[in-house]
Amino acid sequence: MTYVLGLRCRECGTDYPHEPLHVCDQCFGPLEVVYDYAAIARVLTRDAIAARPRNLWRYRELLPVRRDPVVGPYSGFTPLVKADRLATALGVEELYVKDDSVNHPTFSYKDRVVSVAVSKAIEFEFDTVSCASTGNLANSVSAHAARAGLNCFIFIPDNLEQGKIIGSAIYGPRTVAIRGNYDDVNRLCSEIADKYRWAFVNINIRPYYTEGAKTYGFEIAEQLGWRFPQHVIVPTAGGTILPKVAKAFKELEKIGLVRGTQPKIHSAQAGGCAPVIGALHRGSDLIEPVKPDTIAKSIAIGNPADGYYVLKAVRESGGWGEAVTDAEIVAGIHLLARTEGIFTEPAGGTTVAVTKKLIDLGRIPRNESIVISVTGNGYKTLEAVSASVASPFVINARLQEFDALYDSLAPQARRAAGHE
Ligand SMILES: *Cc1c(COP(=O)(O)O)cnc(C)c1O
Ligand SMILES: [Zn+2]
Repeated sequence: MTYVLGLRCRECGTDYPHEPLHVCDQCFGPLEVVYDYAAIARVLTRDAIAARPRNLWRYRELLPVRRDPVVGPYSGFTPLVKADRLATALGVEELYVKDDSVNHPTFSYKDRVVSVAVSKAIEFEFDTVSCASTGNLANSVSAHAARAGLNCFIFIPDNLEQGKIIGSAIYGPRTVAIRGNYDDVNRLCSEIADKYRWAFVNINIRPYYTEGAKTYGFEIAEQLGWRFPQHVIVPTAGGTILPKVAKAFKELEKIGLVRGTQPKIHSAQAGGCAPVIGALHRGSDLIEPVKPDTIAKSIAIGNPADGYYVLKAVRESGGWGEAVTDAEIVAGIHLLARTEGIFTEPAGGTTVAVTKKLIDLGRIPRNESIVISVTGNGYKTLEAVSASVASPFVINARLQEFDALYDSLAPQARRAAGHE
């Protein structure tokens, strides 16, 4: 059973069938999945959802799949953590972290979009899946391909972190590292996608892939008790997740599952790669591509495919956006780890730091409810913080040596350890 009516061009409205297509022949606009919302509203109730397994397929009527999905049984439904200690540190009243650093199987939000994309690749009878990636997408495509028994080619820039490279290689894909940045990788992959009949998850089956990102928004509302927060801070790379979180909130309202004011959605980028924030601050619709230079490699896309739709979604929601320096990103990673016990990669450090900035600037009032998106896991990007964490004290296994060390610590450190 599917509630998908077909695909439609986002720009000129031309209709297309439910097939592996992604651009409009009339105007080159991106295609988007169209659903029968009236039919969905009749079957998809809060109770029906609550009775289902705790994975992203609990919202399957709002996802573009035809039959029961065979991948992603453990993807999605990640924790929405009430972050009281971080709230105190930031001086706000009601704060949550939506924590995809523990998503399954590869510890980033990409497991959502890939669960849907690989399900579609199987439906469309592709035997090979592929992607252009800044790292996390390659990890997820590689893992899902292994589980589904599909061939896999991944394309990445040649400067990624070890954790991201090994985190794909372990699943046995063919990995191609391109001398260049993500935008070079993506350009090459568009040419390869035209020539080889492969399912490039973020190119030729992109309309289906991007729909998986809505589940991040559905879960936020469900986990808040079917209510919307007032602010959500979302990272922006290629521009998939932010507009899809906005779409998720609108769909929940449209089918009657949640009522209330739509959240303000704020975009977060690294200062070393902030083409969307640049256009937002200029008040322009025109995104000027940049050459990325930041430690936040997973969101380092200088020419974002859907940047325009990020601007549109941010503006429609009444949100805003900011960029932060690499030093602020590292400070954001530390702050989240020390206040909430969550270790995120630089993309999450970016959303934490941007949230702080938006609060300090008065863009987010201190008494309004806030959700920070944490989309990736810090254990994959140890390089980003290795220089800024304390080294261990090294001693021999003798009690006197520990006593001497303990006495040498400042009283404050001893108190922190629970003594005195
Ligand atoms: C891919 C990614 C994003 C956001 O990317 P979009 O292309 O804008 O959807 C954010 N965080 C992490 C960790 C990612 O891997
Ligand atoms: Zn069109």
